[in-house]
Amino acid sequence: MKNIYGLTYVQLESYLLELGEKKSKAPFIYQGLYKQQIDSLLDIPAIRQSLLKQLEEDFSMTLPRLVEQTEGDDTTKFLFSLEDGSLIEAVLMRQKYGNSLCISSQVGCNMACAFCQSGRFKKVRNLLPEELTGQIIYIQKQLHLTISNIVLMGIGEPFDNYDNVMQFLEIISHPHGLALGPRHVTVSTCGLVPQIEQYASHPAHGLLAISLHAPDDETRSRLMPVNRRYPVAQLMDAARSCILKAGKKIMLEYVMLQEINDHPWQAQLLADLIGCDAFHVNLIPYNETQNLGFTQSSRERILEFYDVLKKNHITVTMRREFGSSVNAACGQLRADYEKQQKQ
Ligand code: SAH
Repeated sequence: MKNIYGLTYVQLESYLLELGEKKSKAPFIYQGLYKQQIDSLLDIPAIRQSLLKQLEEDFSMTLPRLVEQTEGDDTTKFLFSLEDGSLIEAVLMRQKYGNSLCISSQVGCNMACAFCQSGRFKKVRNLLPEELTGQIIYIQKQLHLTISNIVLMGIGEPFDNYDNVMQFLEIISHPHGLALGPRHVTVSTCGLVPQIEQYASHPAHGLLAISLHAPDDETRSRLMPVNRRYPVAQLMDAARSCILKAGKKIMLEYVMLQEINDHPWQAQLLADLIGCDAFHVNLIPYNETQNLGFTQSSRERILEFYDVLKKNHITVTMRREFGSSVNAACGQLRADYEKQQKQ
């Protein structure tokens, strides 16, 4: 049975037409699902019962099942189990400007970044559109709150699950549904160049963040195997074409790793690489995960790096260490949970 949370608005319209119904019923169904957030398809207002019964026969409304919820100061971390028992994570961040939710895009990840806990669990499968939407709906319903920003920065590489992620973005942006506009959704990639180029031709879908983490190929290839396929120069060219086509700034994420990528010469090289283009650098303190052999850069080193970028007129921010008290770095909760289960 198909899951209704995986259906785009256009697919819902075609379904109705196939039944011999009017397309004009689609807004009521989408609003029931995403605005009123009904628990049963039979509860959708303004639609006759026989059609609702048909909907109920044709679609499930299964959401991810909560396994564990961990509270931090202004973050809540959710560990979910999917229908096949796969475990994924989502992190809710309460910010001044609204609630942001960081969601996972795959079960495991094949990108194998050396510093990332998620890379230790090889990819099992891609998440389906309904499993992406389901993370948002579950949390909104359970906590009675509205999520105003979505970031695809949880477990997985969203562009290694391109079609499902694009379908998901279409679902959540629809005005009769969650109506999350393109400035409220960010897809983060480790640097899959062909998909960055493809994404650039869909400016309505959302913003883009690139996990750069080093400006030189030697360091980046050591940290991120994807760099051997798409080196820095090629990645930056794709990013520039994305800025030109979509007319939006791109965020470059830079996790600060002591004595690895935090040298002042690397800050200068990064500034030269950016030049005067519309990039925004976000310096992120490394969240130390067990036994991966990396250390968080000292505060002085981060400030020095920041100063070099500032002097070169680069837009740069320093991310406060979000979620470390709830083990919010990628894959940490899942790793802890699986360790407990083994004991
Ligand atoms: N695959 C995508 C999205 C998932 S990772 C990507 O690479 O962008 C989300 C971000 O968290 C990435 O920038 C990743 O490099 C970073 N990250 C991974 N482990 C981290 C850690 N222990 N501390 C801080 N950031 C981490």
